[in-house]
Amino acid sequence: MTKILHRTIKAELPRVVSAQGVFIEDANGRSYLDGSGGAAVSCLGHGNGEVLDAMRAQMDRVAYAHTSFFTTDVAEDLAERLVGLAPDGLDFVYLVSGGSEAVEAALKMARQYFVEIGQPQRRHIIARRQSYHGNTIGALATGGNVWRRAQFQPILPETYHVSPCYTYRDQRPDEDAAAYGQRLADELDAKIRALGADQVIAFVAEPVVGATMGAVPAVPGYFRRIREVCDRHGVLLILDEVMCGMGRTGSIFACAAEGVQPDLVTIAKGLGGGYQPIGAVLLSDAVYRAFEEGSGLFQHGHTYVGHPVAAAAASKVVEILSRPGVMEHVALMGDKLQESLESALAHSSFVGDIRGRGLFRGIEMVADRASKEPFEPKLRLHARIKREAMERGLLCYPMGGTIDGVRGDHVLLAPPYVISPEEVDQLVERLADAIDAATR
Ligand code: PMP
Repeated sequence: MTKILHRTIKAELPRVVSAQGVFIEDANGRSYLDGSGGAAVSCLGHGNGEVLDAMRAQMDRVAYAHTSFFTTDVAEDLAERLVGLAPDGLDFVYLVSGGSEAVEAALKMARQYFVEIGQPQRRHIIARRQSYHGNTIGALATGGNVWRRAQFQPILPETYHVSPCYTYRDQRPDEDAAAYGQRLADELDAKIRALGADQVIAFVAEPVVGATMGAVPAVPGYFRRIREVCDRHGVLLILDEVMCGMGRTGSIFACAAEGVQPDLVTIAKGLGGGYQPIGAVLLSDAVYRAFEEGSGLFQHGHTYVGHPVAAAAASKVVEILSRPGVMEHVALMGDKLQESLESALAHSSFVGDIRGRGLFRGIEMVADRASKEPFEPKLRLHARIKREAMERGLLCYPMGGTIDGVRGDHVLLAPPYVISPEEVDQLVERLADAIDAATR
């Protein structure tokens, strides 16, 4: 009998005993190809010796020191590396222990920024529907996932949501990318005006939407238009790269492909590569200066901020990700994954859309291809695909049911970047079998 409160109380989970590269093995000797990197975490694969050595060396030196007393070489080194790789204008780093903590910190930073610059009336956060930004109170309230929020609603701060950029379902046939992006930017503009242009703190969005939509990138130009709207009203732009960042989409920062300068960017997951829990907020010079010239104190903090072993692991992960050829391999394997999925799933009338960027791909399932009608939530197609995939030795990340009133099932793929072309073929073959079995 387990003494652990597992997320799904009655689920019988296999016990994992070892992992190497893109494979994980359970206690029954079954091997699984890690097609989702957990939840888009294991970017370098399992058992990376260089990261383990960096962690061991740091543990031998000093495993923990509270940041109210000390900084460390490894944390300074990590910040330096991240700023060096980030889009221009993101010059400072705040370290935390995961994605939700990063989002919470970014929200509080944004709010305190306006207090520091003498606009304390600003109090509203706007995000997008069908989004997920974490499970802590502030991050949960920010996410547009009504189902996750439902029972906690009475204790959540009020937030506002606009439409996500969702080409497959929402771009009108008579609308090109520019017109669609403009329509969404106009919607945000109208929402800000309705709330009071000088009352809004920030707009929060994922550059490529992961968990809730299945690797959905925005149309070209969307984020530039969103940036213009934010600038018009002095609203901060927070990009949540917790899932899509750290090279997942083929560039270290996903927003680099959008040509915008966000004010704050959150990262986590791939930053620690699964070796340590870690997250970070990158902040603009302007936000940093407001704190520096204002109260001189960011009124926030956690016990494990800047944890030395986590920083050592992340610093090594980031160093490896920035080596020549790594992002090129992500782009190459990502293109191969897309092409292989398209050909292996072409026969299935239940596959509506295959999309994504780099090694971040999503498959949207539909009961009918022509009408795009989704499966009934009670069929729990996503859960069936997950089970069928595991039986075939594949880990993928299906989501579904009803998210923010929107029905649908999709499968997210986010394998480690060390995946080989042969392993991509293996992943696709197992997934196509699992989808066929689940929809039979
Ligand atoms: N933001 C996004 C975009 C995420 O995908 C997630 C996790 N799935 C989070 C925030 C929360 O991260 P964590 O689970 O590390 O708290």
